[in-house]
This record gives sequence, C-alpha cells and structure tokens, in this order.
Amino acid sequence: MSDEWNRRTQLVHTGSRRSQYGEMAEAIFLTQGFAYDSAEAAEARFIKAGDDEFIYARYGNPTVRMFEERIAAIEGTEDAFATASGMAAVNGALTSMLRAGDHVVSSRALFGSCLYILEEVLGRYGVEVTFVDGTDLDQWRAAVRSGTKAVFFESVSNPTLEVIDIRAVADIAHAVGALVVVDNVFATPIFSRAVDQGADVVVYSTTKHIDGQGRALGGVICGTREFIRKTAETYLKHTGGAMSPFTAWIMLNGMVTLDLRCRAMADSALIVAQALGNDTRLSSVIFPGLASHPQHALAMEQMGSGGTIVSFDIKGGKEAAFRFMNALEIIKISNNLGDAKTIATHPATTTHQRLPQDQKDLLGITPGLIRLSVGLEDPSDLLADLMRGLSRV
Ligand SMILES: *Cc1c(COP(=O)(O)O)cnc(C)c1O
Repeated sequence: MSDEWNRRTQLVHTGSRRSQYGEMAEAIFLTQGFAYDSAEAAEARFIKAGDDEFIYARYGNPTVRMFEERIAAIEGTEDAFATASGMAAVNGALTSMLRAGDHVVSSRALFGSCLYILEEVLGRYGVEVTFVDGTDLDQWRAAVRSGTKAVFFESVSNPTLEVIDIRAVADIAHAVGALVVVDNVFATPIFSRAVDQGADVVVYSTTKHIDGQGRALGGVICGTREFIRKTAETYLKHTGGAMSPFTAWIMLNGMVTLDLRCRAMADSALIVAQALGNDTRLSSVIFPGLASHPQHALAMEQMGSGGTIVSFDIKGGKEAAFRFMNALEIIKISNNLGDAKTIATHPATTTHQRLPQDQKDLLGITPGLIRLSVGLEDPSDLLADLMRGLSRV
C-alpha cells in the first residue's frame, strides 16, 4: 500500500515498525543482538532470516531497517543498506562488486575521499580506473570497454556544481554491461530521479540533507534487492560498515521533514544566486538553477531544481575570500553541507587543500572560490549577511 502513497506521506510513514506497545514515534532498538525462542529457531534464522527477523546489529536492526525502507521508497529502489558514513557507502558499493582485473571509469571531479578510494584503494587491489571529464560524453564513450564493471560519478560535482547527464552516461555504460553508481549528495533524495534516468546504484552521505542538522555521520546505498542483499550486504555485514540504530533514528526523523527542508533551502539558494548574479565584486556565480549555468537545461530536466548549494568566485583571491568569510555574522565557516545552518566553505584551503595545484586548476577550485550551503534561515537575513561580507572584500 505504501507504494501508492505520495512522497510526503512516505517520508512520514513508510518503514515504520511498531512493537507490541504501539508506540507512535519510531523506537530506537538499541540492541546488538536478538534472543531466539529455541536452538532450532536460532538455526532456522541463520539459514534464512524473515523480513521481521534480525540476527546481529552489524547485519541489520529494526530501527536501521525502518530507515532503509523509507529511503528506498523515496529513491524508488527495491532496497537499501544503511552505512556508518557516506564514505562507507561509497566504499561498500564499489568494493563489494569489484575484484582484481576489473575496470572502472570515473568522473574526475570528486569529493576528496571519493578520489582517494578510486585513485588509491581500488588500484592497490588491482582494479584499473580511468578518469574522465564527466561533462564530456565523448570521454565516457572513449573510456568504457567490454570488461568495464562500473562507472562512478557525482551527479552534481563538489564544489564547482557541474551537472552530469545521468541518462546519457547510463546509456554509454549499459552498452558495455557496466553498472552505473551515482553519488547523489548534491541532488538530494528530493530532487533525485537518478534511477528513472538509468542509475543502478545510488549512494548518499546521510550526514548532509537527510540528517539536515549536522548531528550524525551516516550513509546509504540504494539499489535492486539483488545488489543490496547479495552484493552490498554480504560485504558490509562482514567488514563492519553498518549504521548504528541511534543514527538510523536520527535519519528517520530527518526524513520526515526532508521534502519541506530541501524545497525551502533550494528556494533560498535561488534567491541568493539571483541576488549575487550581477555583483561586480564576484567574477562568477555558479548555480545550476541560473540560466547562465552551462548545464542549466540539463539540471532542470534531471532535478527540476538548482539544488541547495551556490558557489561563487570573489575577485581578489584568497585574501578577499577570507575577509568576506571573517565578516559573516549569521553564516558559519565550516565544511558540512545540507545543514539547516547556512555554511560558507573555502574549498582551496580546506576540503580540497590536499589536491596539487594543477588538479585545483583543472577542477576550477580557484583561490577566491566560496561554496555556500544554503540553510533554513530567512533568505533576507542571509542576503544581508552576504552583503556585509562582500562590503569587506
Ligand atoms: C560528504 C560527502 C561524502 C562523504 O560522506 P560522509 O558522510 O562525510 O562520509 C561523499 N560524497 C559527497 C559528494 C559528499 O558531499
């Protein structure tokens, strides 16, 4: 029945499991194990656990299961596996399916830790990875080959907000039998239609919009039942990347307001991007919701929204960017995103500091670049704060 509900209803109700007490709020089943009625029952459960049967929290837990069912319903996948962090999800999705000799094609514009997995970890175990400019379909076409097991990309890249054409890359990948794995954090589960557009596996850091208040680290892998339970779960339950029940409870509660929050944040992000669009103190404003964005049409078709992040380049480089940040009163200097609190990040000296200069140049991570994660404050207060900052550059 919950398949027929609309999204806001699913966000509130799907996946709820009640104990014999009929509690209204989802319970935190803070238990590592489960008692069996008999030795025979224990044996039977180890042979095959039913839907409402659990063995050990590393394999699954009722509160975690509630979150998995809710996010799978929203993403439109058959199943999901919740992980301890977004990186456990990225690593689990890739490592669980790959072996020595396999080939992977990946977009180059990646979150630093994703880059570490693709550049360092996979190579160490004999997986060959080819990097491409994710927005250039010819590069994807040239890079895939028979034997390419997976393609990987962030559907909207961090921090320069390039939008990758999921449908087109999926067609190229599927032609050689490769699985399409999408890190969809910037698109959010609300604006995502990645599975409809051809993605096979969708990965989130739930630390971002799903928690939405910057409290807990978490992640999730969404996909077919076959992929989630046979491939991902088998790997993750033995290697220890499971989400804790307490975290799952936070994420379940985050889901309840996810649609409202993402829409409010995206509305404010558009207001901010439009207001900054013609500011002469900036050399560029990057927001997929602006007509000036190179993939604006694609972003609208793919997500129906510009998202909740705005990046802009302040003239005057690092010194001007730092003067801007230090003058902010409401907006916090930090490096999370998707939080209710608006956050300004200077990628060149923080999240992407580790990258060599030529990589920063290639990815457009300039000394004046600011990544703004727009939160839930009143947009007029945010604009006043941004203008306060810009008056100091
Ligand atoms: C934050 C982030 C991750 C990592 O998630 P954690 O929860 O911090 O482990 C991966 N990919 C993208 C695009 C992110 O923004």
